Amino acid sequence: MNELGRPARRIPGIGGGEINYRRRQFIRGKANELILKLWQLEKSRRGPALRFRELLPLQPKQIAIELLLLEYEELEEIGYLSIGPLRVTLAGLLDRDKSLIAVSARLSLEIKRFTAAHEIGHFVLHPEITSLREDPRTDTAIRAPLRSVKEKEADLFAAELLMPERFFNQVFANLWGDDDIDCDHLDDNHAYYLTQGELSPLEISKLSRLERAKLVARQIPMTTADALPMAEIFGVSPTAAGIQLLDSGRVR
Ligand SMILES: [Zn+2]
Repeated sequence: MNELGRPARRIPGIGGGEINYRRRQFIRGKANELILKLWQLEKSRRGPALRFRELLPLQPKQIAIELLLLEYEELEEIGYLSIGPLRVTLAGLLDRDKSLIAVSARLSLEIKRFTAAHEIGHFVLHPEITSLREDPRTDTAIRAPLRSVKEKEADLFAAELLMPERFFNQVFANLWGDDDIDCDHLDDNHAYYLTQGELSPLEISKLSRLERAKLVARQIPMTTADALPMAEIFGVSPTAAGIQLLDSGRVR
């Protein structure tokens, strides 16, 4: 479902379904190739000691232009998608013939970044798609279960591109330590850290899995004064970071 409560658009001829394990590994590998190329490129400019952390948040615009040799545009008006009587403002487009990716300039920075990374995902993973216009990669859209496999693949690619697993886990460990956060078994101190004293361990245990993960994504430990929350470090919404926290098993 999109934010209007209607089923999200599907690419014609492609039904719903899940991404199998081998395909997930393939998609992660493709995202990682680009990330390593970007790191090499920046090391050649800024010196071999450049840490990956200094590249965060990653810029899909730079990846599109410098690594994939695509045009990248931010447009005031991409157009509308008609769903029955409703019109949804389009958020992104891919035009393979023109080697162009465009995103709506009206989106928030986080959604713009995720939408651009999603279009890069289609460009890298789906050579048969020559042109595509789509609705925003909002929090609701990212979670929608009824989308086509290709849409889920592009979202997975975007998540891996913006929050590469290895570095995501490192940042998590720096903020929260080596242990995963088990929201069913928090003590009072942990609950206090996660919600600034607003929720008890029992109240947290009653939240949905994603809501728990979002708490972690947008919070910093009270013991780490100069840090940013994970969602801000990676430049994504708390929902996108929360999904990655669940996928990586760091939060349960
Ligand atoms: Zn898409």
